[in-house]
Amino acid sequence: MADRRLAVLGLDAFPYWLLEKAREAGVASFIFNDKTIGAGKRLSCIPPVTPASWPSMMSGVNPGKHGIFSFLSFDRREKKAFFNTAAQLEHPRIHEILSYEGLRSLVVNPIPDFPLLPASKAVIVSNLFFTPRPLSRPRGLHEKYFPSEWPPKYDLEFLESYVEGVRALLEDQLRDPPPLTWVTLDYPDVVLHKDTRLFRDPSIHSSLWGRIDKLARLLYDNYGNLMIVSDHGFREFKVRVNVNDILYREGYAVPSKEETEHLHEQEVFEARGEEAKKIRVPMTLYKLLVKLRLEGVARKIALRILRFYGSKTGKKIYLKPGYSIDYERSRAFVPFTFAYGVYTNGADPRQVAAVLRRYKGLRVWLRGEVYNGPYAGRGPDVVVLGDHEAGYTLGPPRIVGVIYTRTDFATHDQWGILLHKMEDDSIDWDALPLEVPNHLVGSLAMCHLRVPLPGDIDDRGLVERSCNSSIEYKDYNGKFRIAKRLALRGVKR
Ligand SMILES: [Zn+2]
Repeated sequence: MADRRLAVLGLDAFPYWLLEKAREAGVASFIFNDKTIGAGKRLSCIPPVTPASWPSMMSGVNPGKHGIFSFLSFDRREKKAFFNTAAQLEHPRIHEILSYEGLRSLVVNPIPDFPLLPASKAVIVSNLFFTPRPLSRPRGLHEKYFPSEWPPKYDLEFLESYVEGVRALLEDQLRDPPPLTWVTLDYPDVVLHKDTRLFRDPSIHSSLWGRIDKLARLLYDNYGNLMIVSDHGFREFKVRVNVNDILYREGYAVPSKEETEHLHEQEVFEARGEEAKKIRVPMTLYKLLVKLRLEGVARKIALRILRFYGSKTGKKIYLKPGYSIDYERSRAFVPFTFAYGVYTNGADPRQVAAVLRRYKGLRVWLRGEVYNGPYAGRGPDVVVLGDHEAGYTLGPPRIVGVIYTRTDFATHDQWGILLHKMEDDSIDWDALPLEVPNHLVGSLAMCHLRVPLPGDIDDRGLVERSCNSSIEYKDYNGKFRIAKRLALRGVKR
């Protein structure tokens, strides 16, 4: 059936706008070469955040169907945020689907990456993003190829040795190449959060780029079909729009009288982009975290993310002034950083959207205009993004006292990349617009591999127009639900 093969290389946060510059700088001459690889597509990622975007790209569906909208979810009944894990994933990803169809795959860092969900035909390594410890199936694979340092420092030296590890793993595994190899690297995201010099001169990481380029060549040489993708972009912003300040002034949000417990979870993410130079996460914050009523896996993830951001940003993690939100008494609010939207608690989302649309620098939609599916209710009622192209991004999830803050803040933007170098003419790329939604990546990959597509994929019309073979649809969700339940039963909490 599926005689086609495909390799996918994921570069977390590589911005579309940087493509031209990377080409000019001559780094990674295989990847960034529009003569050999083509111009590529602008990949629209909403919300532009790692834990939500990669599952969309790996499954062909929006977060309303796979269930993950950000690092955290907001429990509307309990009025508190909790960390997402693979337990919140509700839709199979491409390697799981291939397994159900009896096809092998090799996946490095599928997101969500913890707990690792085994798939019978997939070789999986999870050891870069958010997992609290390196994991692989078969067990022990990561020890054979990757640096033993854990948690890693995420400096260039580590990243270079990590890429070399992937290469060694591939060289062994590709002696008998599985139909799909998908490798996702947390680069350049991991560097951009602390240092945006790459934007001005992509050649400053030329040694790392050289290794990544070799990896891409290795994949292409073995597969003849390669997609290079990123899960969102990154850019420098001039203004932060404090949405909770708008909601406070308009009578929707109520400040908390005291710092609430859930605030501290949010502050973990706040530390991104601050100027302090400390590398270690302060003990006080650890203690705070321990006091949180987080249990089991959620607590492990929280500690892991704290460590991760501390080491990754090289910046101090600390509590900031301003008021947190009283979730009980507020009628509409942004609960945490990277929420990309407003959760309502009694307020009419249409009214909230109308109010927010009066403010400069915001793009505002009702949930149903962006997300659909059985889990759409986990997402915000009003979806909000900064007007990225005009230099606006969102402020912290507190009431800080002003609506607009002038800043030099660099963070995620909406536009990732979809580059392709394909020997097979399985996909009619010209039938696609320059801008395509991120979930199209998974659907096109499955079209190329000629496996039946999930019956609930988004933008069916776009997929059918560009897929050069006839598409069969299947419902894989029941199978995934059972497999997930079995996999999570064995996880120590
Ligand atoms: Zn990302």
